[in-house]
Amino acid sequence: MTPVADVYGRSLRNLRLSVTDRCNLRCGYCMPEEEYAWLPRDQILHFEEISTLVDVFLGLGVDKVRLTGGEPLLRRNLPELVRQLAGKPGLRDLALTTNGVLLVEHARALKEAGLHRLTVSLDTLRPERFPPLTRRPAETHAQVLAGIAAAPAAGFVVTKLDTVVIRGVNDDELADLIEFGRSVPAEVRFIEYMDVGGATRWSMDQVVSRAEILGVLGRRYGAIEPIVEPGSTAPAERFRLPDGTTFGIIASTTAPFCRSCDRSRLTADGMWYLCLYAVDGVDLLGPLRRGATVDELRALITGGWRRRADRGAEERLASRDRGPLIQIGQLKRDPHLEMHTRGG
Ligand code: SAM
Repeated sequence: MTPVADVYGRSLRNLRLSVTDRCNLRCGYCMPEEEYAWLPRDQILHFEEISTLVDVFLGLGVDKVRLTGGEPLLRRNLPELVRQLAGKPGLRDLALTTNGVLLVEHARALKEAGLHRLTVSLDTLRPERFPPLTRRPAETHAQVLAGIAAAPAAGFVVTKLDTVVIRGVNDDELADLIEFGRSVPAEVRFIEYMDVGGATRWSMDQVVSRAEILGVLGRRYGAIEPIVEPGSTAPAERFRLPDGTTFGIIASTTAPFCRSCDRSRLTADGMWYLCLYAVDGVDLLGPLRRGATVDELRALITGGWRRRADRGAEERLASRDRGPLIQIGQLKRDPHLEMHTRGG
């Protein structure tokens, strides 16, 4: 099948599916407030509705789906959704991104339901840093570490650990995280701090760039070799240390990957966004609940993607006086602008 292409020839391949906008952490770079305007419960897509939409996306060339949130493990019966999706023909990769807090309880059921891959977000190895980072107690950090240990025990082999690197917060833990990843085993990916919706405290001076990360790790381990992966549209560039350990860097802030971006995002209430930075999305919940046929949904999605000209992160890079993308007042009026609503 020839996938649908956008204005710049980018294919529709990769769907990030947010199953809830709720989260059990309050990370300062994503959800710094305690209370938010949540999506109305009666507008949250049911599993059958998600399944119908995923079928339409798969029919248009999507072959990778990542479950995200908010915190996806807060969605009740998530393994049941995984079971419904995992069996679909055409789905090459079904992954989940979690903060790991509830993973001990759910890892085995997720694996048994057919989930292929897991990514766990881990910003620090130091328990005393967890409360200021997440506004949750150090015991919760222990739960995250236990969750990471539960992943290989449940049968997940290619687990990834995602770390948002923030200057003065955790930028002295790069090598420790690599060592920890080796012990799991899991591949660590360092993410540049992004000025997405929700990151209301973002400033450029807190961003630790790919170049800096490579500099620090190079001084510690010696020559770092880039891993060339022809045709890859993955956001992470991968590298190899002299001893063979691999790691990734997602340089969305200083070296965006808009040129090859094949991702789109579906919120838990059925809004479809074609760029993490987009202000407007396409409502799929309304048409679905009004009884739209599969052909009508296909037409809506195909038309939206063909018109896609977004290069959000590149435009941010070009803007002068860069600061938080969206101010708190506007976020309170429209939760769809939040990173935790769209999924990271
Ligand atoms: N709760 C899940 C988790 O923690 O992985 C899934 C949702 S979370 C929004 C997805 C990813 O987005 C996490 O790895 C998180 O660290 C990342 N993220 C959130 N805000 C970010 C920011 N301002 N810059 C870079 N990454 C960010």
